[in-house]
Amino acid sequence: MNGLMMDQPLLISTLLRHAERHHGTQEVVSRRVEGDIHRCTYVELAARSRRMARAMAALGVAAGQRVGTLAWNGYRHLELYYAVSGSGAVLHTLNPRLHADQLAWIADHAEDQVLCFDKTFLPLVESVAQRLTTVRHFVLMVDHDHMPASTAIPGLLCYEDLIDGQADDGFEWPAFDENTASSLCYTSGTTGHPKGVLYSHRSTVLHTFASALPDALNLGARDVILPVVPMFHVNAWGLPYSACMVGAKLVLPGPGLGGKSLHELFETEGVTLSAGVPTVWQGLLAHVQSQGLTFSTMRRTVIGGSACPPAMMEAFEDTHGVQVIHAWGMTELSPIGTVGILKGHQQDLPREQRRTIQAKQGRGVFGIDMKIVGDDGEELPWDGRASGELLVRGAWVVDRYLKADHDGQPGPLVHRNGQGWFPTGDVATVDADGFMQITDRAKDVIKSGGEWIGSIDLENIAMAHPAVAMAACIAARHPKWDERPLLVVVRKPDASLERDELLAFFEGKIAKWWTPDDVVFVDAIPLGATGKMLKNRLREQHGGHLLHKD
Ligand code: ADP
Repeated sequence: MNGLMMDQPLLISTLLRHAERHHGTQEVVSRRVEGDIHRCTYVELAARSRRMARAMAALGVAAGQRVGTLAWNGYRHLELYYAVSGSGAVLHTLNPRLHADQLAWIADHAEDQVLCFDKTFLPLVESVAQRLTTVRHFVLMVDHDHMPASTAIPGLLCYEDLIDGQADDGFEWPAFDENTASSLCYTSGTTGHPKGVLYSHRSTVLHTFASALPDALNLGARDVILPVVPMFHVNAWGLPYSACMVGAKLVLPGPGLGGKSLHELFETEGVTLSAGVPTVWQGLLAHVQSQGLTFSTMRRTVIGGSACPPAMMEAFEDTHGVQVIHAWGMTELSPIGTVGILKGHQQDLPREQRRTIQAKQGRGVFGIDMKIVGDDGEELPWDGRASGELLVRGAWVVDRYLKADHDGQPGPLVHRNGQGWFPTGDVATVDADGFMQITDRAKDVIKSGGEWIGSIDLENIAMAHPAVAMAACIAARHPKWDERPLLVVVRKPDASLERDELLAFFEGKIAKWWTPDDVVFVDAIPLGATGKMLKNRLREQHGGHLLHKD
């Protein structure tokens, strides 16, 4: 027997409609690429989103088609979040920090029809425009006066002209099945090409509910939220959606991610909550400390993407009175999986013990189930000691990657043990209170300042050098970037090759920041039974290499 309740699909457009009707005068403040500060209300943002939705339809974007963005955190990007997904098309946020070749590959793979981008990225888009096989329209996210006098992009469109060309009256967001695709992010997986994670309206709205809970990010209408985490990095951890759900003021920092620029915004806009990877906070804390500044309104900051160093937690909490919310997530999880808020009986523990718990990655939020398994797939106990691969499942966890079947990747990837669990590639313990702690990573990727560097790509380049017999690229711990790529190389017999020559060989083949920091030459690389390089062993041997340099 069915329940007798209204059947209302969980759609992203409902978040914006709610913000408009219930928090209409709440502000969205953006630092623009143009250099100034822009302010609007949710009422204005909603109206402009509807006009942009009409403009996209006029460009021929149909339901299910992808619209790419290359943009900072700003109100126009936010309008696209709602205009594109709200219409039933798919918002594909591209990461502008990737190399042009990778971007072109990803845009082609996603079959993006339209590409909207900030002026910062005009040279980048000019360099790839000719190569993109599916993009029919390029949209520069500026007003008419900021359009370039000339450009290599034929028929370049102006964002504000598109909005001006449409009326707002009579527009209704379409209703459709909540399982319809809404947005798309690519992640540099462990092997081969980047992989597309295609979120749905349902998964996004459920993730939004969960992320706002008191023991998750604890969001409310009194909050002023400044997401430092980019809107091209797993939807800024869902904050563009959750801010609308709870009616919070949003402050979007645009390209101004330096300590000074961020601190100014925190203070002038009264920011209460922020979110970002540890590397960003290092820059901010250094600035605040060197200038003798304080945080007069900020109460909480979400830190995730990489482990939050204990010293950072101390600086925020003890020196500045800012609570650190340590969170763990993945692109494949939309991204929130666990959050490290203490339980009642832990709150009065001695400081050191509390810190030990807070250094863990946290407890699963409702909607995410997790378990750790040993090599044989057997579930391990939650005793804080047994360590195994972390598997998760839930309503906002990927089931399979976009076009996985075409790419020769495993189709449904979660059905390990026939039970529908997604293997995260993280190795973890879980304690009796349900706090998960990452102890190692089984996947061969490097996370530098919160962004992935694909080790396979770097190895392939190194192996193409005529003097290299074998090359492994591993994550070495780094004081600023958390991890940086380190090459471990076996030279060919009788070949001579030195560090600088090999590093110069990477020039032009990858984004500059992907270049390995150093090379260690060895006689042999340890191999496993199936001939795979034992990267865990290499990480044990050389993972500390960069910490001792400089
Ligand atoms: P995000 O950076 O938003 O978390 P990604 O998909 O880029 O998403 O990266 C996910 C991976 O990053 C995780 O599988 C894990 O290895 C690492 N990671 C994320 N959060 C943390 C954290 N708090 N501590 C340690 N590692 C983390």
